[in-house]
Amino acid sequence: MSKIRFNALNETLRRAPIKVKEVKKRSSLFGENVFNKDTMRQYLTKEAFNGVMNAIEHGAKIDRKIADQAAASMKDWALSKKATHYTHWFQPLTGGTAEKHDAFFETIGDGNAIEFFGGNELVQQEPDASSFPNGGIRNTFEARGYTAWDPTSPAYIYGTTLCIPTIFVAYTGEALDNKTPLLRALHAVDKSATAICKYFDKNIKKVTASLGWEQEYFLIDTALAASRPDITLTGRTLLGHSSAKGQQLDDHYFGSIPKRALDFMRDLEQECMLLGIPVKTRHNEVAPNQFELAPIYEESNLAVDHNSLLMDVMDKVAALHHFKVLFHEKPFAGVNGSGKHNNWSLSTNTGVNLLGPGNNPMGNLQFLTFFINTIKAVCDYEELLRASIASASNDHRLGANEAPPAIMSVFIGAQLTKVLEELEGVTKGKLSPKEKTDLKLNVVGKIPDVLLDNTDRNRTSPFAFTGNKFEFRAVGSIANCAKPMTVLNTIVAKQLNDFKTEIDALIDGKGLKKDEAIFNVLREYIKASKKILFEGNGYGEAWEKEAKKRGLSNNKTTPEALKVQISDRIISLYKEMKVMTKIEVEARHEIELENYTKCIQIEGRVLGDIASNHVIPTAISYQNILIKNVTGLKEIFGSSFKKTAANQIDLIEKISEHISEINSNVKLMIKERKKANKLEGQKAAEAYCNKVKPYFDEIRYHCDKLELMIDDEQWPLTKYRELLFTR
Ligand code: ADP
Ligand code: MG
Repeated sequence: MSKIRFNALNETLRRAPIKVKEVKKRSSLFGENVFNKDTMRQYLTKEAFNGVMNAIEHGAKIDRKIADQAAASMKDWALSKKATHYTHWFQPLTGGTAEKHDAFFETIGDGNAIEFFGGNELVQQEPDASSFPNGGIRNTFEARGYTAWDPTSPAYIYGTTLCIPTIFVAYTGEALDNKTPLLRALHAVDKSATAICKYFDKNIKKVTASLGWEQEYFLIDTALAASRPDITLTGRTLLGHSSAKGQQLDDHYFGSIPKRALDFMRDLEQECMLLGIPVKTRHNEVAPNQFELAPIYEESNLAVDHNSLLMDVMDKVAALHHFKVLFHEKPFAGVNGSGKHNNWSLSTNTGVNLLGPGNNPMGNLQFLTFFINTIKAVCDYEELLRASIASASNDHRLGANEAPPAIMSVFIGAQLTKVLEELEGVTKGKLSPKEKTDLKLNVVGKIPDVLLDNTDRNRTSPFAFTGNKFEFRAVGSIANCAKPMTVLNTIVAKQLNDFKTEIDALIDGKGLKKDEAIFNVLREYIKASKKILFEGNGYGEAWEKEAKKRGLSNNKTTPEALKVQISDRIISLYKEMKVMTKIEVEARHEIELENYTKCIQIEGRVLGDIASNHVIPTAISYQNILIKNVTGLKEIFGSSFKKTAANQIDLIEKISEHISEINSNVKLMIKERKKANKLEGQKAAEAYCNKVKPYFDEIRYHCDKLELMIDDEQWPLTKYRELLFTR
């Protein structure tokens, strides 16, 4: 009998309930462990408070004196909360987060010691981080990487450590993390959107991009997860026959949350409250043991930090509840995968959501301006947007048989489709007074502030307008939101700049009134963006054919999807918007390709190992039982044994066939891996994608067939039904 699987099941079924922490009123806990504005006001001198706020709100530099004062106060606050260590917390290009803890403790001679934390320690650190990916930017022997304080994301205490959000840059200034380009993109979109806002309201000084992510995940008991080498090493199952019952009955989606999972969520949410992560919504997702958690949206940089932090905290709280969180986009074949919808909008310092329809014609024209410019940006840079969410794990959703597809398109709903159709008919050049009034009263003026069909209708659209925000649904569940948010904000910033140039030319050059100019340019944008608008079903061949006709990209694999990033057009886009230099873009591209290659390489090794060392030996030992049985029947029945042993003989033969298929496919896969390993960059990634990966399905098919034939008692790998239905 297979020990590990049954031990794991025993352990799982005997779990004693975990005592959930006493739940306090959420609002009283919120931000308790965060060095936020209120705490700063309490702890900082007036001078230091103003200095830091100036840096947060206007990007001003923090001088040495202010930094020293801020550090001293931060330390006092942290010590009052029983913190002993501090760390610069950053998001290197591994996709995860990084931290290296230092104690506040310092010796001062004569056997005495103090707790110390100065401006230097706060503002800049030089972690010995030579093993983080840098895409050739930073030769480890010559130049160092620095972390630098990002005051726009507040410091917080986790456990007994004061965590200071930082950017991570090379000695030469190039970004080595996900945060730096994001901050630059947010700055760019602020600048260009504010300039456009001035057409409507001169008082607008700042535009902030907001992000509300929705995190999907699976929860699996730690013992069950540990019994599967594939889950342990790759975060997903590489084989396993589907369970007789999956998600067909839709009985999990929005159902009552299983008790163990709910206990975990309650503890998790409590931690989130302390850390100032405003989590709000929790529910079951479509697949068994799949769940979702969503916060109230925040400024994008903070929201990105909060999502990265959340994923860390989830791992830790889950461990206390004997759960492993699977963030992988497709942990199980045959049931839904996980995504991370990124809800995005722009809002002004005066409190107006630029993507929310207004309550008067001018407000609506402003809304339409941002709405249509966003659509145009997505249309012009759809392939880059696709690249921003490409990864080996997300390939299982995009371009595989799951919504959303790898083709980027925008869903806007019937009401707004109608508005755009009307605007398309606007006269070229100057408008007659009648037309203007008509537009204001009957087109722009008639946009309702609640758009009825824009809630949740089209779940297959990768980029949907949902009433007062765009929802980028193709982002992967394990992804760092910084990447797609950097791209989205960069392309919108670029588009808004172009828009301004065109409007100003019409006003100054052609003597058009402001609103005439806006109507004229929007009309052309609507015409030019038609190919990206799609209201239909994003599944299947019909849309693929149609999208091809329209000239939309359909890059189904990561190596294909990433290519566009290093095209001249994209490099100049990043340069123009001051988001990344050519060196930075190329370095990132190289790292992403390498991540892809390594991921498939590891999966290939793990699959080969499980197939050869778990599946085949089990198949042989079961076959031996059958052979013994057949021999016994022959002894009893003599020459007529063939009739009584027919089924067993058939099974023996089939098992041999599957074993030999597995063996030969594993060998062929290894051969392809060896060839791929001699290649580099794009070529290596393509070889892993097109030559190595296809063997996964072949090998899996035969393993899964064996799973169905072999005595359940002997099967060593925890089965799908056990992984998905043990609560
Ligand atoms: P669902 O997409 O599941 O129907 P909601 O539409 O209620 O859920 O919201 C999902 C996420 O969108 C939440 O994180 C929410 O805070 C966020 N969100 C709501 N309004 C905005 C907005 N104006 N800008 C950005 N995010 C928003
Ligand atoms: Mg959503």
